[in-house]
Amino acid sequence: MKIHEYQAKKFFSDYKIPVERYKLCVNAAEAATAWSEIGTEKVVVKAQVLTGGRGKAGGVKLAKNEAETQAHAKTILGMDIKGFTVEKVIVSEAVHIESEYYVSFVIDRNTKSVLLMMSPDGGMDIEAVAKDTPDRIYKYSIDPLIGLPDYLARKYAFRLFTEIGQVNQMAAILQNLYRLFIEKDASLTEINPLVRTAEGYLMAIDAKMTFDDNALFRHPDVVALFEPTPEEKIETQAKEKGFSYVHLDGEIGCMVNGAGLAMATMDMIKLYGGHPANFLDIGGSSNPQKVIDAMKLLLNDKQVKVVLINIFGGITRCDDVARGLITAFEEINTTIPVVVRLTGTNEKEGRELLKDTLLISADTMSEATRMAVKVTGSTLKQ
Ligand code: GDP
Ligand code: MN
Repeated sequence: MKIHEYQAKKFFSDYKIPVERYKLCVNAAEAATAWSEIGTEKVVVKAQVLTGGRGKAGGVKLAKNEAETQAHAKTILGMDIKGFTVEKVIVSEAVHIESEYYVSFVIDRNTKSVLLMMSPDGGMDIEAVAKDTPDRIYKYSIDPLIGLPDYLARKYAFRLFTEIGQVNQMAAILQNLYRLFIEKDASLTEINPLVRTAEGYLMAIDAKMTFDDNALFRHPDVVALFEPTPEEKIETQAKEKGFSYVHLDGEIGCMVNGAGLAMATMDMIKLYGGHPANFLDIGGSSNPQKVIDAMKLLLNDKQVKVVLINIFGGITRCDDVARGLITAFEEINTTIPVVVRLTGTNEKEGRELLKDTLLISADTMSEATRMAVKVTGSTLKQ
């Protein structure tokens, strides 16, 4: 689960990580008021969206007076940044940046530990640093039994700073950020940039946190901050209906019984040059209501050009499934082509039943997949 910068900064403040002053605003008038409340001449208006790269997208703007603050808020609010609409901004005190650094803690699956990453080249181009000069990103695995005691925090702080006052500030930031990471079951705590101001203070002017979904049950304070994206809302509704559903970017809606077969279906779509619109495991049973619910879910996605139903009849018999599909499609009104592959117990009877319907029946999984890919207009591979 992700949270906004302003929410992460609240956690930072609670953990004594220095952040600049800021106010949350939902309209331009509030931004103007925030400007006078903050009281510094220069402020920064920043989009609050659950994605990075806001600076490059024009979602971070410096303002020198009230009118500019208001104007920037007006431009940024409603802006689309990587598919997210900006509904909130913060107006924050502008700081005199001398240099920008990068600091984060993440889970490193290779070493099965928390990894500290730091760089003297923080800022908006950290991805380029990681690609072009990876040796400028320092990485340290944290031993879970040792954690980050003073001597280690200082050792790491010395990699970025030499002046003792700043080393001490950095060591405290590292320890506090690590404590925040552990205590809140985060999967990422990131400061980019951590800045050294002209006055020699270190400060987090950006804050990013993501949390381990499996640990959310013990963090009601974090759950309270949950703002589902439209896709996440749909995924939650699907879960309530007993489906396992993940939205993807392609055009082939998939309805499959069994998670393994659903994965194999997506692989096969890719193999033939197509793009799955989703992962959907509808589970067992031939209940028509299930098919109706699943179809509604798939057809809700306007990107879907064809639906591929891939059913393996083990305990569920294919003729039952076919009857279920027929009943379901009497209710569903759609012009979108539907390809069905039925295999397993009573498959012949099942296919026979589908013959006189609008459902396109295929004998094998590859045949069904190729048909679906063709319909989307993608070039068929293999
Ligand atoms: P991101 O692009 O989504 O990561 O947003 P950031 O919060 O990191 O802001 C992007 C860039 O804006 C930073 O790297 C800074 O260079 C700049 N910036 C942000 N706040 C300030 C500020 O208070 N003063 C100055 N001078 N620049 C700032
Ligand atoms: Mn940033």
